[in-house]
Amino acid sequence: MTSIYQRAAFVGLGLIAGSMALAMRRGGLVAETTGTARSPETRTIAAEIGLVDRVTDTAAEAVQGADLVVLCVPMGAMDAVAAEIAPHLAHGATVTDVGSVKQAVIDAVGPHLPDHTHFIPGHPLAGTEHSGPRAGFAELFDNRWTILTPPEGTDPQALDRLTRLWQGMGAQVDIMDPPHHDLVLAVTSHTPHLIAYTMVGVADDLRRVTDSEVIKYSAAGFRDFTRIAASDPTMWRDVFLTNKDATLEILGRFTEELFALQRAIRRGDGDHLHDYFTRTRAIRRGIIDAGQDTDAPDFGRGKR
Ligand code: NAP
Repeated sequence: MTSIYQRAAFVGLGLIAGSMALAMRRGGLVAETTGTARSPETRTIAAEIGLVDRVTDTAAEAVQGADLVVLCVPMGAMDAVAAEIAPHLAHGATVTDVGSVKQAVIDAVGPHLPDHTHFIPGHPLAGTEHSGPRAGFAELFDNRWTILTPPEGTDPQALDRLTRLWQGMGAQVDIMDPPHHDLVLAVTSHTPHLIAYTMVGVADDLRRVTDSEVIKYSAAGFRDFTRIAASDPTMWRDVFLTNKDATLEILGRFTEELFALQRAIRRGDGDHLHDYFTRTRAIRRGIIDAGQDTDAPDFGRGKR
């Protein structure tokens, strides 16, 4: 099979970059991969475990001669990274990213890029609570969605090539406009993370329940919040700083619903609670039917 790209360069070598590099290798999708990260520690580990074919000291070196450049840094670092690589980008290169918020990336990266490149922002809807160069695995994107948000006038061939790459890495690809992406993700990812962070914080503050009780009895639901609340603090700080409007909108709706449920509990309105939980159960069913989660009890953890 011929490679889709000759050289893919990663700026940032954490969970997402590592998973992409491994998935590219699994599928024979790219002839050569290069990459760099901010710290010498990460670069050393990435070189040791062979995460990419060639680890470079700087982003400028990594992107030289690459026909695909993937920005895999936290949202807050996108602007500086784009400014650094811009003069070194090859003619006709595609620049993409994996940031969790799309309008903010477009605003931060777009102005730096030369006209002779194709900028196609992207976001794989896949991840774990782990980060760093050892966190990646080739199967991360299998059967998950990747959303691309190409600006108007994007070269169709460049878009087709990037789409084929994601499909080769196991993902299904959808196209969206950036504000819609940011709203959808505020509902499906960003606000749920904030709620998980809050719930874990509440448990931590509640002195009438001891920490050991929280840990011991966590399988009753709390454990799933703790997994989400263990996600990378830098990444999630940046998500809320850059997807402010959409998350505030969804949080507003969330608090209204919460108040309605609070009132139903206070009034003993069992019908309201039962109807509500019946509706939410159907949403869970839909996610399983769409192949986006397992039907196994307790997420297939089994007895431990
Ligand atoms: P990660 O594992 O923490 O890796 C981030 C990488 O970026 C590290 O290699 C880090 O280098 C590097 N980096 C940070 N600041 C940098 C800078 N100023 N210049 C160059 N490199 C820099 O993070 P990740 O989970 O892969 O996330 C990367 C991006 O993917 C984020 O924008 C995030 O929003 C998005 N995303 C994440 C998930 C998820 O679930 N984790 C899912 C979808 C999309 P050092 O190790 O040297 O600090």
